[in-house]
Amino acid sequence: MSDTDDDAGLGCPVPFSQYDRVVLAHGGGGRATRSLVESLFRAALDSPELREDHDGAIVSLEGPVAITTDGFTVRPLFFPGGDLGALAVHGTVNDLACCGARPELLTVSFVLEEGLALTTLARLVRSMGEAARAVGARVIAGDTKVVERGKGDGVYVSVTGLGRVRRALSPRNVRDGDVVIVSGPVGDHGIAVLVAREDVRLGTEIASDQGEIASLVHELLDEGVALHVARDPTRGGLATVLVEIARTAGVSIVLEEPSVPVRSAVSDACELLGLDPLYVACEGRVVLFVAPEHAERALAIARRFQPDAARIGVVTEGPSGLVLAKNAFGGERVLELLSGEQLPRIC
Ligand code: MG
Repeated sequence: MSDTDDDAGLGCPVPFSQYDRVVLAHGGGGRATRSLVESLFRAALDSPELREDHDGAIVSLEGPVAITTDGFTVRPLFFPGGDLGALAVHGTVNDLACCGARPELLTVSFVLEEGLALTTLARLVRSMGEAARAVGARVIAGDTKVVERGKGDGVYVSVTGLGRVRRALSPRNVRDGDVVIVSGPVGDHGIAVLVAREDVRLGTEIASDQGEIASLVHELLDEGVALHVARDPTRGGLATVLVEIARTAGVSIVLEEPSVPVRSAVSDACELLGLDPLYVACEGRVVLFVAPEHAERALAIARRFQPDAARIGVVTEGPSGLVLAKNAFGGERVLELLSGEQLPRIC
């Protein structure tokens, strides 16, 4: 855990306990745990279920429900455009939205490293609470464990999300002729985190795109757009998502590479670092597969959320899993799944 993660000046003045840092007793289930839960977690993530103060939450959900779970280990904990807390909520609710579900219920599990400043933790948990409330989701259960100093990296968070499915979106719905749309510039998150972590000097600051895409997906459903599947291009980036969907759907995809929105600062950074922006993670973008007759409308809706949303390709009959990227000069290359890990610990 680096001292730069500490946040002595920005926390709220409420004392969480007699401690100002995480101690092993905070994970022990006794008095220190209780005081942490009540003064910090419950204050930031309040919900009727948490107030029940029980071993688990009891909820009623009717109809098909989507469930997703994700772990978050991003380093550093705070980066331009976001932090671990907001990222953990957005990463989870975005996966629910990609299934066609409304984000409704979340459970969170924290692994804290002994010595973490409680003001840092409070800031992350508040950010998490704000992100959840903004999308209409509530945290209904949680857990905290503490590992010894040097055995963690500040905070790791796991989040599970549940939501009722409005219309099941699946790669298996993808058809020949579907138009592929991306909801905004790609690669901002991966580069923002890498720059924050490695102290790379660039001319322009790049902020992460981390954020929710559930509002866009649900707006498309509200407006009756024939959206076949949505997927957020997180680890492995846009290229990996296209290959995965082409494989599952048993289709080919032609990607018009010059149409893919990439900020000039991101493409410059990628060139400098030897990265391909098509493989760099986003945390607030979504790739949409839409019936061709609805493509213009879908694009117009997406541009209300992000003006750089673009139509980037089309689904074709062809070998299953083949993704061909066409460049501005008529050349082509075959995109593969990301091999290895070009950017570890970005989410
Ligand atoms: Mg996803």
